[in-house]
Amino acid sequence: MDCLFCAIINGDIPSNKVYEDEYCYAFLDIAPQAPVHCLVVPKEHIASADEISENNSTLVARIFEAIPKIAKSLGLDGGYRIISNVGENGCQSVKHLHFHILGGKKLSETMA
Ligand code: AMP
Repeated sequence: MDCLFCAIINGDIPSNKVYEDEYCYAFLDIAPQAPVHCLVVPKEHIASADEISENNSTLVARIFEAIPKIAKSLGLDGGYRIISNVGENGCQSVKHLHFHILGGKKLSETMA
């Protein structure tokens, strides 16, 4: 399968890793939209949040257990935003489930 984030997880494409465990991998976004912008992805390929089911939701839980550790390591003490874009209308450009962690400043009140 030709997937950019699978290639990053496998180390075939370089990334600025900020966290890794058995279930997930986190790295800095190549085009940051906030002073801190990191992506957290499951190591198993899941196309988007629309593909989450009872068969893989444990993996998503593991990601959300990792996120506070990642946020702390990035110094996001004042808070942050978690976003997952889904499909065409959600402007998802990479078809591997990922959660954006944005922070490092007071973010916009609008999201859409
Ligand atoms: P989305 O538009 O929600 O699918 O988000 C995809 C994100 O991946 C965008 O914020 C891109 O800037 C980011 N991205 C694309 N290629 C890379 C890469 N090689 N390394 C890090 N981030 C990337």
